[in-house]
Amino acid sequence: MLKLVQGILEFRKLHLSDYRNRFSHLAMGQKPDSLFITCSDSRVVPNLFTSTHPGHLFVLRNAGNIIPPYHVLCSERASIEFAVSQLPIENIIVCGHSNCGAMQAIMGGTEALPESLQFWLSFGQNPKECPSIESLAKENILKQIEHLKTFPLIKEKYDQGLLKLWGWYFDVGTGDTFAYEEELKSFILIDAVEGEYILARLKNLREKHENLNSHKSP
Ligand SMILES: [Zn+2]
Repeated sequence: MLKLVQGILEFRKLHLSDYRNRFSHLAMGQKPDSLFITCSDSRVVPNLFTSTHPGHLFVLRNAGNIIPPYHVLCSERASIEFAVSQLPIENIIVCGHSNCGAMQAIMGGTEALPESLQFWLSFGQNPKECPSIESLAKENILKQIEHLKTFPLIKEKYDQGLLKLWGWYFDVGTGDTFAYEEELKSFILIDAVEGEYILARLKNLREKHENLNSHKSP
């Protein structure tokens, strides 16, 4: 907590002036194009490793970056439905990470854990097919993406090609981020080459939205 208070003082002294314009603009509302779902783990800091700023990401965090299927009424469902219906979200990223405590708990068996955690982690990936924590974390990301597709509004936009679903994996030990590539069935390091490949698809997505909007306007 000490770090937080010192951090506020430091932010006011060194950085607030750089953000004044951005904050006064953001006070009118937010228009993030990405919903970022990740683990609550303190070592995973999305705005840091994606170099993003206030207004860029709508963030949802919980133990194990888990999204129960649509029929489960929970705060995750409310946040996601708000984001997809009320914000201009074009991308949903489910970002798992290395050495995830939730994945370790699933791997080790959840019987001795509090009831709430047993319930929560039951929506995570089944560890039977996964030889390591890393493979479990990666398979869990893909499972949560499948759960996202059970949301009617997400499925509709996804099927129309208006919403992209991305699986990312953050390696805490190196600071590297990996993206799941469906054709390769593998997580690929987001370096300059992979970054360009992703950007090309985002450009297509943006053009699709712009075409749609131009048809909507009179
Ligand atoms: Zn975690």
